[in-house]
Amino acid sequence: MGLFKPAWQSKNIEKAIRAVKKITDQTMLAEIGKTAEYGVVRFAAIEMITDQVILADIAKKKHNSSHTRIMVAEKLTDKAIADTVFADIVINDNSRDNTSQKKRFELVKKLTDQLSIANVAKNAIDIAVREAAIHKLTDQSTLTHITINEQNNGLRKEALLRITNHIMLVDIAKNSKDDYIRISATQKLVDQDLAQTIYTDIAKNSREDYLRQSAIRKLIDQSVIADIAKHEETEDVRYTAVDVLTSQSVLTDIIKHDKSSSIRVMACKKLGTHSMNPYKQCRLKCDACSVVDYDHEYAKTYHGLGSFIGHGYYSGKCTKCGHSFNENEGSHAEGGYYIE
Ligand SMILES: [Zn+2]
Ligand SMILES: [Zn+2]
Repeated sequence: MGLFKPAWQSKNIEKAIRAVKKITDQTMLAEIGKTAEYGVVRFAAIEMITDQVILADIAKKKHNSSHTRIMVAEKLTDKAIADTVFADIVINDNSRDNTSQKKRFELVKKLTDQLSIANVAKNAIDIAVREAAIHKLTDQSTLTHITINEQNNGLRKEALLRITNHIMLVDIAKNSKDDYIRISATQKLVDQDLAQTIYTDIAKNSREDYLRQSAIRKLIDQSVIADIAKHEETEDVRYTAVDVLTSQSVLTDIIKHDKSSSIRVMACKKLGTHSMNPYKQCRLKCDACSVVDYDHEYAKTYHGLGSFIGHGYYSGKCTKCGHSFNENEGSHAEGGYYIE
């Protein structure tokens, strides 16, 4: 018996599409959208769907193509549901080609719902896509979560830039494991006493010397700075502490006891007492900080090599003590402060 075949199943695509365009029954359109043999016919049916429940249902189904899901989600009046679908596609469709990446960026641009933006910011694989989501994120607790827990340095910094909530900033300044982030958060704190407590903690305990130095430069309490200037083992860190030190008595103590000649000279200069005077032959000494420097008077000779100007070296001999140097051997570097 001849089975009646509806016109939308016609092998003639134009005829099938014409038939679809006459259908208004939403369930039937959904069925055609799922089962029609030709893609263009399926799309024609889906385009005709206006029923929000059916549209949402198609948009949410992960086995539908991203193209279909996006097309349908764009017709949803409930933007939060549409955003859930866009976010889901951004997170789970990780094709590495440029077109797919570009599409993911476009979807992130469409997002307005903070929950979906947060979902992308935390879970997308592309770092750049996550960064784009963070730029749209205003939800302070999600931004705090990212600032504290995110593995990627750049994303932690981007998230922190968007945090304005003072309670969250305090939480980060106290609890982040990244001292760079802690310093950045502390700079935004209104409570200056708390800020100083955190700077002190970082100045004394951070594992990164450069961060200890940054924190030292923010310290106000001279007794904390003096403590670091006197007892810190690492010379670079101690140098920074002495650089910000103002206490005359501690500076006087430093020029007498610090084992680093460059730190003694800096402290001496800060006190205005530094003066290099003739000492033993070919040496100068500051009586205040006891550092010594060489004072040879070299007669230099240039030795050209080949025909190239600038290719050569100097050698020389001190006219007073006879010490000689040859620039290529580095012995010219006899100089610089030291302590005898
Ligand atoms: Zn001196
Ligand atoms: Zn000499």
